[in-house]
Amino acid sequence: MKVLSVTSEAFPLVKTGGLADVAGALPAAFAAEGIEIRTLLPGYPSVMAALGGGEIVWEFPNLFGGGASRLVAGNARGLDVIAIDAPHLFDRPGNPYGPGDGFADNAFRFAALARVAASIGRGMLPGFVPDIVHAHDWQAGLTPAYLHYDGGARPGTVMTVHNLAFQGQFDVGLLPYLGFPAEALTIHGIEYYGSIGYLKAGLRFADRITTVSPTYATEICSSEAGMGLDGLLRARGSALSGILNGIDTDVWDPARDPALAAPFDADHMTPRAANKRALQARLGLSQDPDAPLFGAISRFSWQKGIDMVLEAIPAILNAGGQLAILGSGDEALERRAREALAALPGRVGGTIGYDEPIAHLMQAGVDALVVPSRFEPCGLTQLCALRYGAVPVVARVGGLVDTVIDASPMAVAARAATGVQFSPSLEMLEAAIARTVALFRDKATWTMLRRNGMATDVSWREPARRYAALYREIIAERT
Ligand code: ADP
Repeated sequence: MKVLSVTSEAFPLVKTGGLADVAGALPAAFAAEGIEIRTLLPGYPSVMAALGGGEIVWEFPNLFGGGASRLVAGNARGLDVIAIDAPHLFDRPGNPYGPGDGFADNAFRFAALARVAASIGRGMLPGFVPDIVHAHDWQAGLTPAYLHYDGGARPGTVMTVHNLAFQGQFDVGLLPYLGFPAEALTIHGIEYYGSIGYLKAGLRFADRITTVSPTYATEICSSEAGMGLDGLLRARGSALSGILNGIDTDVWDPARDPALAAPFDADHMTPRAANKRALQARLGLSQDPDAPLFGAISRFSWQKGIDMVLEAIPAILNAGGQLAILGSGDEALERRAREALAALPGRVGGTIGYDEPIAHLMQAGVDALVVPSRFEPCGLTQLCALRYGAVPVVARVGGLVDTVIDASPMAVAARAATGVQFSPSLEMLEAAIARTVALFRDKATWTMLRRNGMATDVSWREPARRYAALYREIIAERT
């Protein structure tokens, strides 16, 4: 089976969020499923540099303006990539979407991604004719729509939503320039509340829709979490499912992680204490092995509920705990976090910024990782926490529900619990902190939570199997 993955990000080539982790990790996991996958990416500077020379497999006299453009195929840091080498669209430094509200021509940049994907889907490259075209997020959302309006034979299509908050809406006046017929501009086409909706288009025309956890798949069909798309998602309910993300268990392996002070695994947990000591030293926290050390690793945005963590600092400190913070984003939140760091040295420590080695050391050193998201499609940090023996303390939303088993009396008695869940509010977070500290003081139960967490399969094996099964279902249906 041949699959074309269409994405605007793929780790380690270009990353702004979890989408990159997923698009970067799935190809390796698919090898065990007998799937040949290529990843279509915009030719950003980092992608073209990683490709080196590559092979020119197609030339366009122009692509949404500009001069000649090419498709360049090759291996880029382990990924089988087809890059759209269109300098007028993608040869720009910095964030792939541009500063502030994004580049003014993002409608064309990502229409180009989808247009090329649809053409490859129709057999433009004889050496690689996909059975399935898998589009990720709004940037690839027009792909199923182009395939639909082109008419004729087409491959099966999957649209995956990594975060419904990002939808890609653009002016209806662009319609003719994007190459869609006038009749596409209806509620049954790509029109979306008076705009052209890129994600909406994908959701409307893909054979299957997936999102990154079963609970988020249910939540987004409600008006509270559907962000305007719940009606369409309900209408397409039989095509919608949730497949959890995994994490790269080679990159996240506490037995072989160069960022750690001491390696450990589920059978050799003692060295974990050395990582707590190293983290406390690194962040200027007092060297107290008995203080429950809470951590938060996150983008600073309303979604992630970091404001609630900052508000809950007194509750953590009153319980004898410490807090380690790593993150960046919203300026007001960064300022508040810096104030807390300055005001409470020894008890609150951290780094405001993006730092992968510290993220790894934090997962290995904190006792509990707090994830207080207001909504969370899947979440990756709690999966890393499980693997590193940090007990996840998570809001009861989205993928956090599906990946953490709350330490309720029944789950503890059944020896199944892996963490703590709470309803996303400050009061409930404070109650969860108190509950976590009580569990921390009960050494036998705490050890069980950690062991269960570390025994949880957070790899891509099962998700890859599920995507493969979905692809096969679509192919069987269409033949
Ligand atoms: P998002 O909504 O931001 O994609 P996820 O939990 O799905 O949230 O994925 C975030 C990823 O980015 C995780 O791998 C997490 O460890 C990492 N991350 C987030 N903030 C930072 C940071 N400041 N430094 C290092 N890694 C970070």
